[in-house]
Amino acid sequence: MFDAVIIGGGPAGATAGRLLAQWGHAVVILTAPADPRPTLAECLPPSTRKLFRFLGIQDDIDGAGFYRTNGNTVWWGGRRRRVEPYPAGFGYQVPRGEFDRLLLGLAQSAGAQVRFGKVFSVPGEGGPRIEFQTAAKRVPVRARFLLDCSGRAGVIGRRFRVRQRHPRTVALWGVWRNDEGWKLPDPSHTLVESYGDGWAWSVPLARDVRHVAFMVGPGETQMVRGQGPGARYRAELAKTAAFRRIFARGALERGPWGRDASLYTARSFCGPGFLLAGDAGACIDPLSSFGVKKAMVSAWAGAVVANTWLRKPAMRETALRYFEERERQVQEDYARQSGAWFRAGAARQGHPFWEHRGEEADAANGRMEMDAVRAALEALRRKSSIHLRRADGVRTEPRPGIEGREIVLRDALMAPGVAGALDFLANVHLPRLVELAERGSSQVPDLYEAYNRACAPVALPDFLTALAALVAKGILIDRA
Ligand SMILES: Cc1cc2nc3c(=O)[nH]c(=O)nc-3n(C[C@H](O)[C@H](O)[C@H](O)COP(=O)(O)OP(=O)(O)OC[C@H]3O[C@@H](n4cnc5c(N)ncnc54)[C@H](O)[C@@H]3O)c2cc1C
Repeated sequence: MFDAVIIGGGPAGATAGRLLAQWGHAVVILTAPADPRPTLAECLPPSTRKLFRFLGIQDDIDGAGFYRTNGNTVWWGGRRRRVEPYPAGFGYQVPRGEFDRLLLGLAQSAGAQVRFGKVFSVPGEGGPRIEFQTAAKRVPVRARFLLDCSGRAGVIGRRFRVRQRHPRTVALWGVWRNDEGWKLPDPSHTLVESYGDGWAWSVPLARDVRHVAFMVGPGETQMVRGQGPGARYRAELAKTAAFRRIFARGALERGPWGRDASLYTARSFCGPGFLLAGDAGACIDPLSSFGVKKAMVSAWAGAVVANTWLRKPAMRETALRYFEERERQVQEDYARQSGAWFRAGAARQGHPFWEHRGEEADAANGRMEMDAVRAALEALRRKSSIHLRRADGVRTEPRPGIEGREIVLRDALMAPGVAGALDFLANVHLPRLVELAERGSSQVPDLYEAYNRACAPVALPDFLTALAALVAKGILIDRA
């Protein structure tokens, strides 16, 4: 019997498989054979490189020679064009088939077995049970721990799936070529444009090749019917202003195709002996360009949970609780963020497509939080002295968190009106900071020094961000 069986060899499955194999487990990834149809080009923003470095695969990614991108060019909510270079570093525009093959190869070279076929969920007593179908036979598969990384298909995940309130979204996409390249501020940029009842998106794979998609709501977008996908696709292009001008040059070389892009989450992300990682559990809006990163980080956390389950039976419940809370929190954070973008569109476009998608989130919430942290930071900077105390009801208690390859219990802050437990922010250990702040440093620089003596030293901007966040959230109160 395998220690861990992973369903699906996309970014989540390959990441979890590689890590668990590196940590000495017998792992198999059961995945569908590569789809012969073209795969979508996707954008991986610069912060994904930090994750690649953490996972030790940065050189392999660089070696693959993916087209590098420097930012986005955006026409959103009827505003003028915004050229947004990434503040630091570059990202990659990847053809997903190639990217996925690379990650799967890395998992294999770390010792994970990879088998091609189709996995089915079968009813039975106890936890989820699966069977694996190859050309020759269909066999039951048993594992000490099962990770569903099958993406939107959700072999196990489907049973736990909750569709988000707003209606379905479909991506209509095709591949464009223009031998002379397009006239753009930066040819490597992802392009995004909102229009009356949908939005358009384009990722380049080279100077002369771009994937172009239109995100439409079949229930809301006014679409051309009965004249085939080509007419429907071109009718969406005609609704845009900037895209229409740009893609008047070049030709639609392949496609269009349709792809489901509707949002969903999970009632539960794990249970005894299994978990749902990446899109098998929940997906985020493609507008964010963080789907792949989110899936890989979820797989890393999933691998840590599986490792803890396999090696530390006493910590099993704690590990599952950690994963459940983490995935839910991450999903809520992304939903809030994309809701804010859709609200910005709704304000201008006033169409149900935008209003429905903006409803999910509390746009003001995220913005207000950032404003409050900034204001707290400014106030701290102006003060000649501080006198901080912990607010009533704020307590420190042991909560599950990741340490290396395992889930452990460590101190975290619980505060009234603040969702979830707070342990680290910008590498600063918040419970320790609260404790030191209460001991009475009257100057911020003294508190900074005291923190750096007591804990792993952090940079001053990180320290100030963490301190300001504690004040902004009302966890620390300044009596000075
Ligand atoms: C239109 C659109 C545009 C997007 N653009 C971006 C972008 O620019 N940047 C970005 O980061 N993200 C983007 N995303 C999101 C991104 O595609 C996903 O978040 C990401 O692929 C999730 O990775 P995963 O490994 O969880 O799942 P997947 O990538 O879906 O991998 C699942 C794997 O499981 C396999 N599988 C499925 N069912 C079975 C079965 N029954 N048996 C065996 N194997 C099975 C599949 O073959 C596949 O290999 C976009 C999504 C959409 C819809």
